[in-house]
Amino acid sequence: PRPVHVIGGGLAGSEAAWQIASAGVPVVLHEMRPVRKTDAHQTDGLAEMVCSNSFRSDDAEYNAVGLLHEEMRRCGSLILRCADAHKVPAGGALAVDRDGFSAAVSEALAGHPLVSIVREEVAGLPPADWDSVIVATGPLTSPALAEAVRELTGEESLAFFDAIAPIVYKESIDLSKAWFQSRYDKPGPGGTGQDYINCAMNREQYEAFIQALLDAPKTDFKEWEKNTPYFEGCLPIEVMASRGVDTLRYGPMKPVGLTNPHAPPEAGRRSHAIVQLRQDNALGTLYNLVGFQTKMKYADQTRVFRMIPGLENAEFARLGGLHRNTFLNSPKLLDREMRLKAMPSLRFAGQVTGVEGYVESAAIGLLTGRFAGAERLGRTCTAPPATTALGALLNHITGGAEAETFQPMNVNFGLFPDLEGKIKGRDRKLAYTRRALGDLDGWLGTRQAAE
Ligand code: FAD
Repeated sequence: PRPVHVIGGGLAGSEAAWQIASAGVPVVLHEMRPVRKTDAHQTDGLAEMVCSNSFRSDDAEYNAVGLLHEEMRRCGSLILRCADAHKVPAGGALAVDRDGFSAAVSEALAGHPLVSIVREEVAGLPPADWDSVIVATGPLTSPALAEAVRELTGEESLAFFDAIAPIVYKESIDLSKAWFQSRYDKPGPGGTGQDYINCAMNREQYEAFIQALLDAPKTDFKEWEKNTPYFEGCLPIEVMASRGVDTLRYGPMKPVGLTNPHAPPEAGRRSHAIVQLRQDNALGTLYNLVGFQTKMKYADQTRVFRMIPGLENAEFARLGGLHRNTFLNSPKLLDREMRLKAMPSLRFAGQVTGVEGYVESAAIGLLTGRFAGAERLGRTCTAPPATTALGALLNHITGGAEAETFQPMNVNFGLFPDLEGKIKGRDRKLAYTRRALGDLDGWLGTRQAAE
């Protein structure tokens, strides 16, 4: 068969190339380093980890990313095999010797008879005779390629300050204090007038909260991030707070049009300030704090946001952050097999598809590689069931997430379809992971039988 071209030899591109070659299809992997560098990579190795050396929790029973590790192992992942071979002691986490890990990935790919590696930048749309391409160029996609993709998709922008607001599990919100209501009871498109979850503050609570925002330690901008200005429309919440004690009360925390049913009627049910949470996924299991993008350090975010009445015991599916990123509005632009609807010979994989993290990027690389390999061989490759971590992540970026508010996502149990019956706490996590691995094995078994 003719080769599949993979652009970008990072976490996603390396895994995609491995999956394609493992299916018996030739691959050309185009990596621009060291010919052209990025602002974060330091080496010319494939699958370089640009920041931390951790793939996070390796607990496949009680943790969604640990489950994703295990599923990837069962799918013959190169990234997981090399990570396991180069792990360093890190408690329950899978952390690696980053140089040993990157060298192992590079050697495995360079030594595979069906893989050729070309060191060049693909500085625009690929030539017409590349009829199957995977773009896996990551958050730091070179500007020439990003611009070509932007023109092709008609999107206004692909490089953003990734304004990430924290996301909480709905079940951890205390609804004896919080309540459902849209501002002025407006039923937005498809809504009921009860679309938001609201958390009220009195003056004392508000002022203590503002002070905590100002006092909390923040992460620093990287040198290269300083050159990308942030939009006024998505300022970090602590920057807004620093402009005056009432700035947030006239911004994302404005109390107008909302009536607190838990407040005594004599107080008029009005609040001094209100935090709103908006549904974040189709399943309705996750809610984001509207307008709460932040650069506070992670531990401080948890502490400060639990000061909000109703969120005292909030569990966070993802914490906030702000860094430069390049990603597609995948729910709008990609089909279920990661093909660009506007040009189906082009698939996308990795962080550029709106997943967040090394493991998630590699996981999408794994699936996209399998889709492209199967297509080349004239086979169909069904998507993994939505009950698996791989399937839940794929489902989120290609359909489950709202296109208007799409933001990069980590894998978490909130993306999984509900379980039957009421199961709580740790048992619930175990039930998710058992169901996932059973369904994954079924999927892999059916595929093997079909091949
Ligand atoms: P990458 O691993 O970045 O791979 C993309 C590759 O494409 C690169 O090798 C690049 O050189 C190449 N490339 C780009 N454009 C072209 C082109 N036109 N032609 C040819 N090659 C090209 N995630 C975590 O889990 N933990 C962290 O600590 C973490 N820290 C991060 C820190 C920073 C500064 C950034 C930007 C991201 C961080 N991430 C982190 C998020 C993300 O998980 C990683 O960026 C991850 O490497 C993404 O994998 P990827 O394969 O999509 O992209």
